[in-house]
Amino acid sequence: MTPDYDLAVVGGGAVGAAFAALAVREALYAAGRVVVIERERPAPFVPGEAYDLRVVALSRASTRILATAGAWDAIAAARVSPYERMRVWHESFAVDSGEALVFDAAELGEPNLGFIVESRLIQSALLASLEASGVTILAGAVEALSLAPALAAVDIGGRRVTARLVVGADGGRSRVRELAGMPVSSRDFEQQAIVANVMTARAHEDTAWQRFLGYGTLAFLPLANGQCSIVWSVGNERAAALRALDVPAFERELTQALDGALGEVRLASSRVAIPLIATRALHYVRERCALIGDAAHTVHPLAGQGVNLGFLDAATLAEELAGARAEGEDPGALRILRRYERRRRPENELMSRAMGGFNDWLALGRGPVAQVARRGLGIVNRMGPAKHFIARRALGIAGDLPAAARGVRPRESGRSSQRR
Ligand SMILES: Cc1cc2nc3c(=O)[nH]c(=O)nc-3n(C[C@H](O)[C@H](O)[C@H](O)COP(=O)(O)OP(=O)(O)OC[C@H]3O[C@@H](n4cnc5c(N)ncnc54)[C@H](O)[C@@H]3O)c2cc1C
Repeated sequence: MTPDYDLAVVGGGAVGAAFAALAVREALYAAGRVVVIERERPAPFVPGEAYDLRVVALSRASTRILATAGAWDAIAAARVSPYERMRVWHESFAVDSGEALVFDAAELGEPNLGFIVESRLIQSALLASLEASGVTILAGAVEALSLAPALAAVDIGGRRVTARLVVGADGGRSRVRELAGMPVSSRDFEQQAIVANVMTARAHEDTAWQRFLGYGTLAFLPLANGQCSIVWSVGNERAAALRALDVPAFERELTQALDGALGEVRLASSRVAIPLIATRALHYVRERCALIGDAAHTVHPLAGQGVNLGFLDAATLAEELAGARAEGEDPGALRILRRYERRRRPENELMSRAMGGFNDWLALGRGPVAQVARRGLGIVNRMGPAKHFIARRALGIAGDLPAAARGVRPRESGRSSQRR
């Protein structure tokens, strides 16, 4: 039986849409043979409108992947905020003490450390580019999934769509993951991230500021309009109390939580709170089905890695499938999908464990490692090679990277795991 499509991507968020775009741009599938199923498309970006509350810090690897996916130029032309420095410190020390960890793009010979971009903008640019290339975007939520040795089928709104491969990119509460019977292990941090946009009395100096508080973490991410996007991760009870404060009282608490590093802080938006849970799928693949992005793993946001890991999943999966296709193999076969899982699961799990550790030791000061960890920031800052290594990994210019993340077209690199 000929399926309706070769590829069905469930979830047209940033990661799913990027994967579909990479698959088409790298000629893995013809655009007419790809469908993206998305239950809720974002409103189109309107130039000059207020910044959305959900922003992400993109690494160089991610912006390269978005360029290969054909969306970065449109995103950069719309609105992005480059940041040049990052200053991370613990509440036991002053912001300008030698115990702060400071990354500087100039020291790495780079123009910046990455870009702060609204999630909605990334998603809309990718979906627009997919539509322009002839990919079908189907509105609806997946209700059922069946996986057979040669074919997969998804049901949406009473309609059945068949494909040779289904990719679940439907976020942290993935329905595809659940319907495919792929178990997860999760850790509820019992924290919420309070997110808002703010004005600061002092200029942010294109620097990302992060303070470990002993009861959580506070990040100020610089926006191009002079405002900052804040992510304040605190325990559930404190989050409820902070949200209940009136605006002036909240602003006072916030100014104090950053130890006055940017002077007085004023709210420029509403506040929202997002529960923080780390999940990890124990398997990323089954016959005719693969999970990518938050559907496969969610991590604590304190180092801003979630979507960056997801883009690496998308590029690695596309690379492995293209390698299989070039060898005349069936890209939906389980043994091909396992190559992707072998490359990405250990990396993602390592990052998830590291984020959990930073939260326990640095943000909450729990356990015997905590004392060492708070001094560790300053120690790493004084150790040139270690600091350089961490900065290059965080920037996404070192490590086991798929070709698209290195700015190389996969077919030029000739790299997939079967040939390594
Ligand atoms: C406070 C906070 C700050 C963060 N900051 C950063 C950061 O600085 N840098 C970073 O890299 N990451 C960051 N992250 C993580 C990042 O937001 C996520 O990793 C990223 O959004 C995951 O993208 P995704 O496409 O995998 O999933 P999602 O963004 O969740 O997209 C999933 C898509 O699937 C659709 N969908 C869901 N179910 C169905 C269904 N049944 N049928 C059809 N469609 C469906 C949804 O509508 C959605 O469009 C942060 C997260 C939080 C909470």
